[in-house]
Amino acid sequence: MPHIAIIGAGITGVTTAYALLQRGYDVTVIERHRYAAMETSFANGGQLSASNAEVWNSVPTLIKGLRWMFRPDAPLLMNPSPSWHKYSWLAEFAWNVKNYRQNTIETTRLAIAARRHLFAIAAQEGIDFDLERRGILHVYRDRAGFEAGAQVNALLREGGLDRRPVTPEEICAIEPALHGPFFGGFFTPSDSTGDIHKFTRGLAACCERQGAKFVYGTEVAAIAAADGSFHIHCKPFPAGKREGHRIEADTIVISAGVESRRLAAMLGDRINIYPVKGYSITVHLDTAQSRDAAPWVSLLDEEAKIVTSRLGADRFRVAGTAEFNGYNRDIRADRITPLTDWVRTCFPGIETSRVVPWAGLRPMMPNMMPVVRAGRRPGVFYNTGHGHLGWTLSAATAEALAQTIAAGPAQVGTRTSTRLKQAG
Ligand SMILES: Cc1cc2nc3c(=O)[nH]c(=O)nc-3n(C[C@H](O)[C@H](O)[C@H](O)COP(=O)(O)OP(=O)(O)OC[C@H]3O[C@@H](n4cnc5c(N)ncnc54)[C@H](O)[C@@H]3O)c2cc1C
Repeated sequence: MPHIAIIGAGITGVTTAYALLQRGYDVTVIERHRYAAMETSFANGGQLSASNAEVWNSVPTLIKGLRWMFRPDAPLLMNPSPSWHKYSWLAEFAWNVKNYRQNTIETTRLAIAARRHLFAIAAQEGIDFDLERRGILHVYRDRAGFEAGAQVNALLREGGLDRRPVTPEEICAIEPALHGPFFGGFFTPSDSTGDIHKFTRGLAACCERQGAKFVYGTEVAAIAAADGSFHIHCKPFPAGKREGHRIEADTIVISAGVESRRLAAMLGDRINIYPVKGYSITVHLDTAQSRDAAPWVSLLDEEAKIVTSRLGADRFRVAGTAEFNGYNRDIRADRITPLTDWVRTCFPGIETSRVVPWAGLRPMMPNMMPVVRAGRRPGVFYNTGHGHLGWTLSAATAEALAQTIAAGPAQVGTRTSTRLKQAG
């Protein structure tokens, strides 16, 4: 069996490793951190959300984005400093408005397929990741927002999702802990939540038991192709006294999150991922009063662009905001405050004395669709660019990519996107 090297041990790299192991491949995962899931797959919003499959490439979103640029506490923030990467990406983003409908429907289908794979893996391998299958409640504060939501709903339904309109009274019945007022909402009973970090770590351990090799603390610095195989030049991370070394592989899969663009360029491919920063807080529910006051049903507040997940009895995750500021990973207090304030307003009974902030970079393509395909060079593959939905989609894209690789040399080197529906 060929030796496959996967670069990156986030959710996409580890699910790919698992899907390839099931097909009997010899797998090595190279990860610069000491453990799996230490970058964007660390503390995200937790939602496994087909209901959030709408791509952002729409005229109303562009207009809203422009308006938000002038409000310091808005969900979107852009550093206007000149950057070819940022502005060319934004131009491609606007160009993809024409694909809004098709890409939203396709993402919905993929998210529904992904659930089946994810739940099956967790059950088969006994992975505990604080899964809550209680649905996702999308809430709107005014009529205009709710009516726009109804239009999105038609596309989600076309993708096969059961997402129902609910009244303010029904919102109250579905999640009594939530304080309004709200105009209305949509409820998706089949959506769920869970801890991406716990799942990825659990699955990485399971892959190791099944024979995969994980090379941690090792950064891929360069890749050279030679006689149908690859020399992967690695150096210690963070840089230290250890010597660099070389790993040989027949096939390479790039699942390196926001670094995939740089690695793809080494292999002659253009994967135009931009790092779209987001923030989360994990509220520790240390008292019985806090635990009672926190919701169990996952929420998406449309106006604030905030998502929530209850991670077991004593953690409440709240995430949001999109920031265009390059590879900057600083945790800014003025971006964390709106998340904490939102908790205080919507859940006044929760104590916010122990709140852990985090920032992560979403690996976002301009059309908001993951890249699941062969590269230009034979033996190179990509499973990356999952943007704001990597947790939701990875189990299906990993399966689709493993199918492509297993299909053999006819697939190698083609520029054709993997038919994601195959994963269903
Ligand atoms: C605030 C926020 C909230 C979110 N909420 C949700 C949500 O509710 N639901 C959802 O579905 N998605 C959500 N997402 C998106 C989701 O978290 C990401 O899409 C997903 O984690 C990306 O996984 P990944 O494997 O592509 O990248 P990563 O998890 O970043 O993994 C890439 C790995 O590659 C490694 N790497 C990179 N370069 C190299 C190199 N040269 N050598 C070795 N290793 C390398 C990195 O160290 C990293 O571990 C959210 C994201 C953010 C930021």
